Amino acid sequence: MRRIDLKKVSVARSDTIRNINRQIVLNFVRERAPISRAEIAQETALQRSTISLIVDELKARGLIEEFEGESTGGRPPTLLRLRAAAAVAIGVDLSTRNTVVATSDLAGRVLEQEEFVTDPNPTKTLNKIIECARMLIKKGIDIEGIGISLPGLVDTETGNALFIPRFNWRDWAVAEEMKVATGLPVRVDNDANAMALAELWFGRPEVREVRDFIMILVEEGLGTGIVFDGQVYHGAVGAAGEFGHMIIGTNAPMACASGSRECWEAFASERAALARYANLCGSLDGRSALTFAQIMDRALSGETVARTALLETAHFLGIGISNWIEGQTREAVIVGSQIARAWPLIAKDLKNAVEENSICRGLPSANIIASSLGAHPRLMGALSLVLASKFASMGPA
Ligand SMILES: [Zn+2]
Repeated sequence: MRRIDLKKVSVARSDTIRNINRQIVLNFVRERAPISRAEIAQETALQRSTISLIVDELKARGLIEEFEGESTGGRPPTLLRLRAAAAVAIGVDLSTRNTVVATSDLAGRVLEQEEFVTDPNPTKTLNKIIECARMLIKKGIDIEGIGISLPGLVDTETGNALFIPRFNWRDWAVAEEMKVATGLPVRVDNDANAMALAELWFGRPEVREVRDFIMILVEEGLGTGIVFDGQVYHGAVGAAGEFGHMIIGTNAPMACASGSRECWEAFASERAALARYANLCGSLDGRSALTFAQIMDRALSGETVARTALLETAHFLGIGISNWIEGQTREAVIVGSQIARAWPLIAKDLKNAVEENSICRGLPSANIIASSLGAHPRLMGALSLVLASKFASMGPA
């Protein structure tokens, strides 16, 4: 497999790399403004001249602006910041609980958002999405497209949802219906794939410089996305990322969406952690009234039972990851969604489980890190379905 090491590449050798370099600079300005060109050069592997070219181009496109900082004795520094920009994309994060419809600018800043409980009836949910989208479109005349993230199997070519297990939706022509209702181009992908794309374009610099990684989305279920040489790998009908149901043991604390007590999802999803917590508390029906977020809060504030439930779940996440990276040369594994918030607590147990279960013990392994997409990673995924292609179509810097 061809590898691209940005640290060694001083001249962008393809449009893809050029686009990524541009995104790295834009992300630095978005996250760290006010920041100077020299500071960006210090923190990235990019040449000073490359950064200057990109900054000039981003200025010309009206995305960033330069201003004079305060002097600390000598000449005042010239600093960069984002310009207040117009909405260009609508992202729809349809999850098993809520649906969020939001606008963002080209830099991925969320400008406005609407949220409602996802209705188990796809027509009702779609009608609400259309209603929200139309309202947002009225406010932003430059909306260029809609990206939709779905918790299930998606055919990205047709934009059809093939199967959404949680609601048992099948063969839903969501992209087509959305396109007809709004008149805008629509892109749809599985949530883990969309998050992998967002991580590639909007993640931390150390994530963005990795070209091969696996995204593991821990939610009610367990999703996976694969990035191969800087591209999200879809495989046959988008099913490449569906490895949440691989067998990793027996007697899981609960049954997965398909009824198995042996698969990764049954051991390592949010619902598995909830089931463990309920079991440890001696709840008779094996369920807990708490949400996963509440269990994490309790674990983070030191409650022993919550910690145990979370750490056991992290252990089985690690076992699944070790199966994943066995025999594959992946540079990184990114663990995403709510659980990323508890990373300081769970990272050690998770990594120990990977190490203990690895055949290649002691050899350099993939870097296992938490997602850096913030509080709404799936929404960033949905938005990046529009923003990444918009950015990629800008042409050479
Ligand atoms: Zn399963």
